[in-house]
Amino acid sequence: MFRLPSLDLIRISSVIALSASMIIGSIALRGVLDRREIATESLRQLRFFELATAAASAMTKERLPLETALSLEPEQSLGARADLRGARLSTDMAIARLHQHLGEAAAEPDLNFNFLMTLLRDERRLADSLLTLPVKDRQTSLQLRIARGMSAISETFVPFVDRAAKRVIEADESLTGRVNVARLLGALYESATRLASEVTPALKRSEKIPPEAVMGSMRVQQRILALWDVGVSQLEFGIDSPELSQAMAAIRAVYFGKGFPFLSRAIETHSRKPVASAEQGSRISAVYAPTTFPIVHMRDLYVEAMMQEAEAVQNSTLQEMRLVLSLSALVLVMTATAAWVLYRQMLRPLFGLRDQILALCERRPIARRPYEGSVDAVQSLYRALDTLAARDRERMILEEERAALAEKLRTLSETDELTSLPNRRGLFVRLDCFGTQAREYVAILGDIDHFKAVNDTCGHGAGDEVLAAFSALLRKRAGADVVAARYGGEEFAILVRSDDVESVLAFAEDLRAEVEAMTVETSAGPVRVTVSFGLAHERGPVSSWQTLLTLADKALYDAKSAGRNRVRLTNATIAALEDRSGDDDHGAAPSRTTA
Ligand code: GH3
Ligand code: MG
Ligand code: MG
Repeated sequence: MFRLPSLDLIRISSVIALSASMIIGSIALRGVLDRREIATESLRQLRFFELATAAASAMTKERLPLETALSLEPEQSLGARADLRGARLSTDMAIARLHQHLGEAAAEPDLNFNFLMTLLRDERRLADSLLTLPVKDRQTSLQLRIARGMSAISETFVPFVDRAAKRVIEADESLTGRVNVARLLGALYESATRLASEVTPALKRSEKIPPEAVMGSMRVQQRILALWDVGVSQLEFGIDSPELSQAMAAIRAVYFGKGFPFLSRAIETHSRKPVASAEQGSRISAVYAPTTFPIVHMRDLYVEAMMQEAEAVQNSTLQEMRLVLSLSALVLVMTATAAWVLYRQMLRPLFGLRDQILALCERRPIARRPYEGSVDAVQSLYRALDTLAARDRERMILEEERAALAEKLRTLSETDELTSLPNRRGLFVRLDCFGTQAREYVAILGDIDHFKAVNDTCGHGAGDEVLAAFSALLRKRAGADVVAARYGGEEFAILVRSDDVESVLAFAEDLRAEVEAMTVETSAGPVRVTVSFGLAHERGPVSSWQTLLTLADKALYDAKSAGRNRVRLTNATIAALEDRSGDDDHGAAPSRTTA
């Protein structure tokens, strides 16, 4: 099975963790932003909806004080006219606010404000001119015309309010139910007001309500009841606060319990016969008009609740945004810090540890870097490395000491203690690497003559001193091409590599002569000795030093037999020398014996 290296796994995990936290953060942020955008847009559209409905309601509301004023004589209607001025001001302000809002937002081509204001001014002017006349001179038809004109102006707002409602729903679909309820309440309010407008002009002039107005008022009554039928379930469903349920109860009790039956009865009564007094008209306005207010109040509550909710969403999303951003930043920082700490506190020190352990194993010098982190496990690993390094140092020192000791032992085992020359073992060790390049190899064995007599005469100590003196001479002569050793007792081996046996012969002869001439100043007095030499040679490479030395020993035996203090060669060596001298234009043959 494929297994990802752990280090790559850590790297990849860190990158994935960082990316995932960024992705999760951005998804969460995206969600919050979307909700905020919906809330902002729905709030914007709700403001527009509120302004539109407020303007429409103000228009509707303006009709009530007008109707009251129209039912009173000019000198009695001062209060009603003041109310009318107030209502007109409210309408103007509501329309101006809407106009301003639309000016700030994109222009709304469907609503021609100038035309609307011109119409409104005309209606108001007509109403004002009627108000200057006594009540009896105010024609019902004219009053009805004004009422319907005002209604028509109110109605110009209907498609406008509808569009505002549509935009709210487009911005936030969840508001559909409540927007529709608000529209329904607006329509109910408009119809309730219109119902009064239809009949009051006739009532206040003590006239029988004209059939046309009766028909109109019946249509309006049916519309009111239909709206209420449709709306009541929706209204009850949408109620989610005590304020709203109070407003709902008020509509039921005040408008449908009082205002609507009151006006319906009046219409019923006065559609058949003229009223007794003009007071009835003003009473209708005074009693009926306030009963419509709970409708508009409930509508305002709905719109306000929607706006408050949107504002709350805006605020909460702002906080959520802050939270998401802070949490994402925290996760990013924590992940990055964790990765950094993991690398600095563990991975990098572990790599360092690995390098140091490898260097220790391979005995490579490496700068020791102590662990500066705070992870216990890594700390103990570094301590273990310190212990290991200390043990290794101790072992190295021991190894060096043992090697020195072994070298010393080896030297001792290969060296003769008395003469400091290599002993027989040392001789053969040296011969191993004496080489094979030279043309000739010569073995010389030297034996001190009558040495027993020296011991016997001068003492063993003097004998030792003689041996040491002769050895010193040999050491002096030894070099790269001469190996000298104490072969045993008072016997010495001298191995020479040379291209020329004759020069070796001369060397042996010189040595012999030098010993002969030498006086050894021993502790027992001066001692003089002679040495006999036996010499054998072989062309390199030497097959067996031992054989060559045995041949030399034979030649030495010859030297001893011939009277000592002389150099003797093997027959083969003599033959070789003779051959060579024959080649060299018949030169004199070397003597077999020198003395
Ligand atoms: P030759 O001329 O035939 O060689 O007679 P030699 O007396 O030299 O020979 P021999 O073999 O009879 O005697 C050798 C003597 O060398 C006997 C021994 O005590 C002596 N010897 C051997 N090793 C040492 C040593 O280390 N120190 C001393 N002082 N004498 C030694
Ligand atoms: Mg001997
Ligand atoms: Mg001897």
